[in-house]
Amino acid sequence: MDLFEYQARDLFAKHGVPVLAGIVATTPSEARAAAEQLGSKLFVVKAQVKTGGRGKAGGVKLARSPEEVEDAASQILGMDIKGHTVHRIMIAEGADIAEEYYFSVLLDRSERRYLALCSVEGGMEIEQLAVERPEALARIAIDPGRGIDEEMARHIVSEAGFPEADADAVADVILGLWDVYVKEDATLVEVNPLVKTADGTILALDGKVSIDDNASFRHPAHADLEDKTAENPLEAKAKEKGLNYVKLEGGQVGIIGNGAGLVMSTLDVVAYAGEQYGVGPANFLDIGGGASAEVMANGLDVILGDPEVRSVFVNVFGGITACDEVANGIVQALAILGDAATKPIVVRLDGNNVDEGRRILTEAAHPLVTIMDTMDGAAAKAAEIAA
Ligand code: GDP
Ligand code: MN
Repeated sequence: MDLFEYQARDLFAKHGVPVLAGIVATTPSEARAAAEQLGSKLFVVKAQVKTGGRGKAGGVKLARSPEEVEDAASQILGMDIKGHTVHRIMIAEGADIAEEYYFSVLLDRSERRYLALCSVEGGMEIEQLAVERPEALARIAIDPGRGIDEEMARHIVSEAGFPEADADAVADVILGLWDVYVKEDATLVEVNPLVKTADGTILALDGKVSIDDNASFRHPAHADLEDKTAENPLEAKAKEKGLNYVKLEGGQVGIIGNGAGLVMSTLDVVAYAGEQYGVGPANFLDIGGGASAEVMANGLDVILGDPEVRSVFVNVFGGITACDEVANGIVQALAILGDAATKPIVVRLDGNNVDEGRRILTEAAHPLVTIMDTMDGAAAKAAEIAA
């Protein structure tokens, strides 16, 4: 999970990394009130979107009064930055920047260790620096067993070329950032720019943190960092029920299948069959190996909840879970859903115990269910109904 800058900043503060005070706002008047509360001579108004290059896109603006903050806020809120709409901004105290540096630590999967990157030439995009002046970017491998201790922090600082006078202060900040990395189970901690202010203080002015979701069991507090507003409600519901559901743009046929490979090819045949009508897949859901009645009911419930869905194609290849179990699952799922099941369902079963599976469905004779023998035939039927 990638965090917003303000969330990264909160984690920095928690682990003793120096940052400037900031308040999140969602309207220009809230922004003005935040500025009044901060009571600074200089403010910075920053778009909170999970993408870089906000500065270049006009999403970071300096302001000298609460009025100017309100003005900047109304310009930034609603702005589109690389496909991300700005719903939130952070009003922070402005720093009087003397120098801009760069520091990050990340997981180097191919080398099975961590990698620290550090430069006294921060501010600009690091990808650009790495290409244009690779010698200005120190790359230091970090042994996972040792991590970044004081000696290693000093080594990073000297490799990056910091003057001796700043070495202690920068090394201290690096230790704090390493603390964030380890204690929060991050896979990336990046500060660009890390700055020195006119009075010589080292500050993290921007922050990018990615959290390792596999470690979420160790961090109950991280659940609060999830951006619930960005989540599709059906995707959230599916996630809650442990289902792999993906919403697609522009289609009308809901797709349920077992196994990623089968689901992918189902998308293809539905897209192909739907071409003549201008219909296509609306979403897909992989119910995985054991298609129990409950899993099928949850799956159908999610797929039928998508208002764009006009027909559903259930495509199951019976393997370890045989077709008769799947058929029973579908029949029971429809009983569980009752009136909540409202859209035509085309079922194609094949594989282990297919005859028994088809017999169960035929016997149940549910008015919404059409049984088809082949994948192509079922796709054509589902597309025709959706059209
Ligand atoms: P990014 O463009 O998304 O990486 O956003 P940043 O937070 O890094 O801000 C972009 C640039 O705005 C920085 O590199 C700084 O030059 C400038 N900036 C950000 N905060 C301040 C501040 O408090 N004071 C001043 N003077 N400049 C700032
Ligand atoms: Mn930045």
